[in-house]
Amino acid sequence: MTLSQGDDRADSDVAKTAPAAPERFYTNMGDGKMDRQTQQYADTLSRMIRHETVSDYACSDNTRFESFRSLLKELFPALFQTGEYVEFDDGFVLKWAGKSNAKGPVLFMNHHDVVEPNGEWEHGPFSAEIADGRLWGRGTLDDKGGLWAMLQAADELAGDGFTPERDVWFSSTSTEETTGKGADEISHWFEKKGIRFEMCFDEGGMILYEPIGGAKGKFAMIGVGEKGCADLKFIARSKGGHASIPGKNTPLVRLGKFMAKAEKHQVFPLDMNPAVCEMFRRFSLYMGLEGKLFSDPEKNKAILSRIMIKVSDKAAALLRTTIAFTMAKGSGAPNVIPSEAWVIGNMRYSHHQGQQGSFEAIRKLAEKYDVEMEIQDPGCPSRLTDYNGTAFRLVEEAVHAVFPDVVPVPYIMTGCSDSRFFDRVCDQCIRFLPFEINDQQLDSIHGINENLDLTTLVPAVSFYQYLMKAV
Ligand SMILES: [Zn+2]
Repeated sequence: MTLSQGDDRADSDVAKTAPAAPERFYTNMGDGKMDRQTQQYADTLSRMIRHETVSDYACSDNTRFESFRSLLKELFPALFQTGEYVEFDDGFVLKWAGKSNAKGPVLFMNHHDVVEPNGEWEHGPFSAEIADGRLWGRGTLDDKGGLWAMLQAADELAGDGFTPERDVWFSSTSTEETTGKGADEISHWFEKKGIRFEMCFDEGGMILYEPIGGAKGKFAMIGVGEKGCADLKFIARSKGGHASIPGKNTPLVRLGKFMAKAEKHQVFPLDMNPAVCEMFRRFSLYMGLEGKLFSDPEKNKAILSRIMIKVSDKAAALLRTTIAFTMAKGSGAPNVIPSEAWVIGNMRYSHHQGQQGSFEAIRKLAEKYDVEMEIQDPGCPSRLTDYNGTAFRLVEEAVHAVFPDVVPVPYIMTGCSDSRFFDRVCDQCIRFLPFEINDQQLDSIHGINENLDLTTLVPAVSFYQYLMKAV
């Protein structure tokens, strides 16, 4: 097993079109000063961060998103002037026409809404302050950083008079953090126009050090799919009554017993799909003796799964359907037994158990505790992109070219992204952002003190330019 799937690709399309690796990737930040290019990049991204675009859960006011989209036109004039722009209520698409239609188009996408910056921040969440070699603010990682990098890359190329080999489309929505309504609408729009993408590149995994214990090295976590997500409401009923005569198994008690059992997740079988197996196999090369078991994950599936669920919640989430209980309601007064109590479970279902299988397993468990289940917001798990396919290989190549000390690995996202809606118009969706981040930065996504290292800006643009030239 060699590390790179791309080593024997001499006769592939990829090899014929692969551009030379960029000459310079890293900025010298040793003395705390930025070089001119990094300074320019930081200025541009700062303006995107300062423009507040917190998700609008009520979907009632689009003005902040509309003005943000105007800002993009100002920041990336060469690209927006070259391209054909279509605005939607919740996003936009932009077409950068290629030299020919011989190959199907490709799509680059990143969203522009951000989650609320709750909690105490060291630097104001919309200040875009630069301190300690980092740019701070909500959206630096999720996902304005990615949006900036892909548009910056294309804007420079368009400004230099470069024309891509095939049509390159861009898309960005303001509803990724809420319902995905914008991506749903835009993907339907493409479908109606008969436009199918050969590849699509969205946000997703990033470059992490030691993503699982023992795998010593830097890994580019390249998402090849994502689990499905659904909200389920579990309802327990009773005759109600006064709290002074409670009787047994009142609604909240039944829900509690049900949740305690469900949290053990035993109704959700463990398995490893081919992408997860490949991820472990690639990790194994950096794990010393411990890696032996991981080097043949198909053979050691049973024992590996049992180990992973004990040692890592993150790894466990890759191996089975999960459910997290997030909201609850009982009666309206402290001395009243509820006639109806409910909890919401947010489910992420695995590819192997699937939507219906996961629903039925949890419904059966709920019935044991006399709890009813309502499905509120079902969605399907995404298609799995082949990690031997062209899209994955191109991203691998770009990683090798721009980040020579980083090992690309396929993985499955446990969170949802807009790209799930693009399965209807694309067979190969890749979910990856070319930013190297540490544990604090990983936790800052949807948390506090979100930031990215200034040293990541230049390589991120190089990464996207590599792809745009190679496709
Ligand atoms: Zn995001």
